[in-house]
Amino acid sequence: MAAAQNVITDLNMAITVTVSVQKPPAPHGYISISRKKLLQNLEISAGARVNAWVDSMRASSPTHIKSTPSLSDDQGSWNLHHPSALDMFEQIIDASKGKKIVMFLDYDGTLSPIVEDPDRAFMSKKMRKTVRKLAKCFPTAIVSGRCRDKVYKFVKLDELYYAGSHGMDIKGPEKRSKSNKVSESVLFQPASEFLPMIDEVYKQLVDTTKSTTGAKVENNKFCVSVHFRCVDEKKWGELAQKVRSVLKEYPKLRLTQGRKVLEIRPTIIWNKGKALEFLLESLGFANCTDVFPVYIGDDRTDEDAFKILRDRGQGFGILVSKFPKETSASYSLQEPDEVMNFLRRLVEWKQLSLRAQSRMGKGPVALTPCRVNSNGSCTLSDPQHTTSDKSRASAIL
Ligand SMILES: [Mg+2]
Repeated sequence: MAAAQNVITDLNMAITVTVSVQKPPAPHGYISISRKKLLQNLEISAGARVNAWVDSMRASSPTHIKSTPSLSDDQGSWNLHHPSALDMFEQIIDASKGKKIVMFLDYDGTLSPIVEDPDRAFMSKKMRKTVRKLAKCFPTAIVSGRCRDKVYKFVKLDELYYAGSHGMDIKGPEKRSKSNKVSESVLFQPASEFLPMIDEVYKQLVDTTKSTTGAKVENNKFCVSVHFRCVDEKKWGELAQKVRSVLKEYPKLRLTQGRKVLEIRPTIIWNKGKALEFLLESLGFANCTDVFPVYIGDDRTDEDAFKILRDRGQGFGILVSKFPKETSASYSLQEPDEVMNFLRRLVEWKQLSLRAQSRMGKGPVALTPCRVNSNGSCTLSDPQHTTSDKSRASAIL
């Protein structure tokens, strides 16, 4: 497999490095930089870097954005460039005509609300029911920064693909044999050699941050999250400094920011975007032009997936946000409830399309005969058959 040369900029370390990347399944592609140079970089402007982490987290905080006049003023312009996926549903369906839709869903802030205690980020029964129906219509994957086991415990659906730890732990749906035996199907774990190191860092972070009220360290198997959600904002700088003091001893690990969270990961070139590409390949869509991936996420880490879709010119990304944010996503939804409504409409559209094909005796094929009207109802190619929002909701749920 030929190695490709990529240049990436690690914003956290304020350095630019050249790396070699190999496509999956070979999990290579480590950042090649000497420990000495890395430690030098870590020491230079360390204070500024910690401030940058904290500023970046503040920028991701909805309450902060709401109180920032310049960003609030930009809301109208931002909405023009990233319109609501619900408002644009008909156009989205038109763009997917004749293509196979594949769904990728982040978990926190997308399927579940962001709550103070990350262990209580439960998804609603309605959302679970909707995702179950979605998976019957389209191949569906959950892509999360959380450990795969933990996100599965929240979602509880066997029929999905799960990419935990920012895509570093990928597993397909469980398969049942004729004798009803369930076989696990782990597809890909590109950072397995980092497991002992991650465990060690997790313990150190727990110890170092225990004196900061509200700080929570989460072991996500292939990465560690330090949650700031319950920490007084005045203490964020101090906590970030503690995280840095642990991380500087581990040049093979890097740090990224999310929504009120700092995340420590291996320095392999692997992220949610790479996981999306890997899953598309695994599903048999490696070089297909008739695939239409849709990725929905709310976090900075989801941008890697949005960028991949934009670069491939396939499908699109939907950012979940109430406020303007810099993003490579094409569309937006404001909150998990809107995500659920969007997923329901996709399910209904698919079901009506299949019914129309069945009525015409064509069997399962292209996904086109259902037209979505401006009032949100769907019309089959047979003009006599129209469903209202009310009947649509009851049909789906
Ligand atoms: Mg999220």
